[in-house]
Amino acid sequence: MSKNECIFCKIVIGKIPCKKIYEDDSVIAFLDIRPVSDGHTLVVPKAHFERLHQCPPEVLGSIGACVAKIAQAVVGAVGGGGYNVLCNNGRVAGQLVDHVHFHIIPRNEGDEVFTRWPAYEYEQGRADELAVKISENL
Ligand code: AMP
Ligand code: ZN
Repeated sequence: MSKNECIFCKIVIGKIPCKKIYEDDSVIAFLDIRPVSDGHTLVVPKAHFERLHQCPPEVLGSIGACVAKIAQAVVGAVGGGGYNVLCNNGRVAGQLVDHVHFHIIPRNEGDEVFTRWPAYEYEQGRADELAVKISENL
């Protein structure tokens, strides 16, 4: 998806409206148009990067600081018991908008927002093998 067609780039330049919560030189935050809970917010770098691993460190730093600050404000405002921070990367991971963003999702007891967490146990030796393979790939 090019910058010109990107819906979040259009929000950044004011071409598409949003329910804005916060803005500074490098970050904008606004309410998700299709929330999974009240106050569901998106924190978005103003610069267009498709995936998290493509963002330079200074962009990651400013988003990280904003996510923490905005999460506190969101949860305080809606009275949530907690929150999830989610960053989908790639179609298989559920990313629909190819402009990096963090979801802040207020959570409450029994809200059933994430009903499936398919945890399992590694077979013998697999965790060691993966830990080595991943660290060698850094
Ligand atoms: P993802 O699946 O992680 O790419 O999430 C994209 C999110 O952007 C979805 O939760 C959408 O509801 C949200 N979204 C898409 N268009 C807009 C928009 N114009 N304003 C606010 N949120 C939007
Ligand atoms: Zn964009």
